[in-house]
Amino acid sequence: MTTPRKVYLETLGCQMNFNDSEVMLGLLQKEGFEPVENKLDADLLIVNTCQIRGSAEDKAFSHLGTWGKLKAKNPKIKIAMAGCVAQQTKDGIFKRAPYVDIVFGTQNIHELPELVRRAFEGNNRVLAVDRQKPRNTYDYLTDVAPRRENDISAWVTIIEGCDYFCTYCVVPYTRGRQISRTPESIIREVFQLAAQGFKEITLLGQTVDSYGKDFTDRHYGLAELLYELHEIEGIERIRFMTSHPLDLTDRIIDAVAELPKVMEYIHIPMQAGDDEILARMRRGYTSQQYYDLVRKIYDRVPNAAVSGDYIVGFPGETDAQFQRTVESVALSGIHNANSAAYSPRKQTPAAFWELHGEEIPEAVKEERLQILIEAIRAQSLKKNQGYLNCEVEVLVEGKSKRNPNRLTGRTRSNKVVNFETSLSEDALVGQLIQVKIQEALPFSLIGQMVLPAELSQSAVLSGAVAP
Ligand code: SF4
Repeated sequence: MTTPRKVYLETLGCQMNFNDSEVMLGLLQKEGFEPVENKLDADLLIVNTCQIRGSAEDKAFSHLGTWGKLKAKNPKIKIAMAGCVAQQTKDGIFKRAPYVDIVFGTQNIHELPELVRRAFEGNNRVLAVDRQKPRNTYDYLTDVAPRRENDISAWVTIIEGCDYFCTYCVVPYTRGRQISRTPESIIREVFQLAAQGFKEITLLGQTVDSYGKDFTDRHYGLAELLYELHEIEGIERIRFMTSHPLDLTDRIIDAVAELPKVMEYIHIPMQAGDDEILARMRRGYTSQQYYDLVRKIYDRVPNAAVSGDYIVGFPGETDAQFQRTVESVALSGIHNANSAAYSPRKQTPAAFWELHGEEIPEAVKEERLQILIEAIRAQSLKKNQGYLNCEVEVLVEGKSKRNPNRLTGRTRSNKVVNFETSLSEDALVGQLIQVKIQEALPFSLIGQMVLPAELSQSAVLSGAVAP
């Protein structure tokens, strides 16, 4: 019997990259590869890269540098680079890191088994970065079983690429133009997930609410998909992210309001609170339009939580413009937000502006970022305090990483809840339970599980109650 080859995969970047990595591992497992946690055990090393920020790109090359040294000691190891940096840099990767064996792009994932075979047969510099359009990459992958990170919640990519061309963003260059996956292929995958016992799915896309806009053979969008997925027995929670403010239609908001399985959580990046900066970012909306959208969501779905994203230090951003971004956190009424300092990306107009005199010094970016993070923290705490003494539905994920005496899960509005209970982890993981919130922190809630009488009794009888 031959020993299976081993693969180590490092993922950088967004959830879409993580979902792509799950698929890569699924494809390789089908070829007999065994995933390993330690890179020193691997025959094949893959880094799935992100190019959204310079730091993520640097990290990818830092991994390659370390792996190159491993390969110098053991030339049989094969090294592959995937993802957005691979898509953008193409065979330039081989020049920068000559020990790399395989470079494959964001739309060539389905070719991975063939590429790996060629590399192990002794072919040098195996390259696959051609776009596979007109189909969505996941439409090529219908018979693959991704290797999921857990067995409760699953990512489901439904759209790739983006047509917006915001002036700071590389996604349209790395992931290409928007291509939606067919509903048939998505529904088939979700049926499989339900059969495997998954309870929650998160539909993914760079602009997930643009789903279906590129279909030429049907009028079908995210709302229609949500209504269909809602009918799949076994799936109890459906989320979607990331939305673009311009594509979040009333019909989608209605679906969130009407469908019990669709969670009351919508992530819509605002990016800046100043209208001139928004225009220069080419976002297509004003701050007031963003506020109106959030208000509309809360009016229609009163228990919803909207979260956002922000960029600070965009080329030319003045103190006053930055101040409007800070103010927008409270004005918009969002619950939370991710924030990052602007990072110039080659090919984009904003990077050109930065090079031509509009650069914000790094120290100023960092100072602004800290101010914004503080504003987000205060807003998030305020919103979380609204949950005090309320009972919320939580899908239990497992032990809290910070406090192993507590279990952790998420509310319908995507709040992390850490809670105490007398029941064991095994009895609760994957269950929907009620938790009474006793403490609100800026980025999580703490509470006590509300024990239904029948669960309490059956747990005691079955010995599931923790000693
Ligand atoms: S909408 Fe999002 S993914 Fe598309 S270009 Fe703008 S920032 Fe990038």
